[in-house]
Amino acid sequence: MMKEKYIMALDQGTTSARCILYDKKGRQISVAQKEFRQIFPRAGWVEHDAMDIWSTQIGVAKEAMLKTGATYENIDALGITNQRETTVVWDKTTGEPVYNAIVWQCRRTADYCDELKARGLDDFFRKKTGLLIDPYFSATKLRWILENVDGAYDRARKGELLFGTIETWLIWKLTEGKVHVTDYSNASRTMMFNIHDLEWDGEILELLDIPRCMLPEVRPSSMVYGESDHKLLGGPVKIAGAAGDQQAALFGQACFNEGEAKNTYGTGGFMLVNTGEKPVESRNGLITTIAWGLDGKVNYALEGSVFVSGALIQWLRDEVKILDNAAQSEELARSVPDTAGAYIVPAFTGLGAPYWDPYARGAVTGLTRGVNRNHLVRAAVESMAYQTYDLMNSMAEDIGEPIKAFKVDGGACMNDFLLEFQADIMNMTLYRPECIETTSLGAAYLAGLATGYWENTDDIISNWQIDRTFSPHMDEAERKKLLRGWHRAVRSTFGWSRQEMDDEEMV
Ligand code: ADP
Repeated sequence: MMKEKYIMALDQGTTSARCILYDKKGRQISVAQKEFRQIFPRAGWVEHDAMDIWSTQIGVAKEAMLKTGATYENIDALGITNQRETTVVWDKTTGEPVYNAIVWQCRRTADYCDELKARGLDDFFRKKTGLLIDPYFSATKLRWILENVDGAYDRARKGELLFGTIETWLIWKLTEGKVHVTDYSNASRTMMFNIHDLEWDGEILELLDIPRCMLPEVRPSSMVYGESDHKLLGGPVKIAGAAGDQQAALFGQACFNEGEAKNTYGTGGFMLVNTGEKPVESRNGLITTIAWGLDGKVNYALEGSVFVSGALIQWLRDEVKILDNAAQSEELARSVPDTAGAYIVPAFTGLGAPYWDPYARGAVTGLTRGVNRNHLVRAAVESMAYQTYDLMNSMAEDIGEPIKAFKVDGGACMNDFLLEFQADIMNMTLYRPECIETTSLGAAYLAGLATGYWENTDDIISNWQIDRTFSPHMDEAERKKLLRGWHRAVRSTFGWSRQEMDDEEMV
């Protein structure tokens, strides 16, 4: 025990803080997790208490060490991965946050974003930051805090306040205020960072009236930023890596080369494809983002998301009540040879890339008298695959060539039927790794590469083991027919909530 060295991954997610200790083989030695409070002050507003985030995170770190009897001497370094875009502003001297953290999901700045769009600034932001103007990203949240907290603008201009996304906040707390940094991947989600010049963008800061002195230094995703304060973990631990959760997952999946993609099947779906050292601009409403900064270089990625993925299975379980649990969806889907022509389009909150229709609403189409529970469950699982297909297709179109490798993770990737159907409908081979905890693993790898715990990315590639490969078997005519049906079903949902208003007007 004494000599064993591990890497500690701090995984600060939207609903819980986790800490995992990994060994050289990338195996989990110890895990601790704690949920924290979600704050909903008004409809559409989401906040976290930044102190709560800190205390749960440091709490699970200590717990994970205790569970396996590790001391700080057993921790070679720690890496952080985090919920992205969530915004914290705090007092530089006291360390007190001036307001709750405004969470990525929070829509409070929607009106201001509409205003920016109406001023024709879409291209301005997209060209510099790779992002679409949206309340999702940090910049307008930061501006909201400055405008709405008494005296905040004054104090920020005098250099008394600091801004950070969650990894910045945690590093600052871990070093007792000595280090104020972010990494390239997190900076690229703020809508203030120029992803070409690799600097905070002066024109954007001026436009949004953000004092530059409150912004962190931007650093590679893998390097020793500093050491944790002696008192926290029994002795100093090197803080050596940071990346946003989706980027960390891409890294944990060992997608180091151009054209390699990962898809996460969780509540929603997240797909990222590594585009190498060049940023690719999307014509299909995808986002251009920085994957990570490593070895003096920056890697870019295209990113797209499916709003409702595993959440559709939850809906069938909790609202429609035709499932006892999520895993049962596989058994029921397999019990029928097809969906008997039915499709479910889970456009509960509109449609994202490549359709971008906020007015679309969910639908079940193609119903006939013979459709039963099993067919509907199968249609739900298939819809997860169809949506992923659409996203993958957009990405391939944007980069101008097919995706080279497709790796999967997330809770729903344990559904073998889903992945078999996914391989069929994409006509591609998919790879599921043994370790599907790719987010925290990615953070661990970034930290361990900085300290030499892992020598280079080859070590990571050899740790990345396939659990199962899914190859396509469907004949082309069948595939085309199913896809045509899916796209007809999708079209039927367009503008639905807007149409409803039109109908009322007609009556
Ligand atoms: P998140 O991290 O987004 O909260 P997870 O990665 O833990 O989500 O995945 C949970 C989601 O996956 C839930 O929405 C659940 O309905 C879905 N899910 C879990 N297991 C299965 C399964 N075997 N088949 C289909 N969906 C599943």
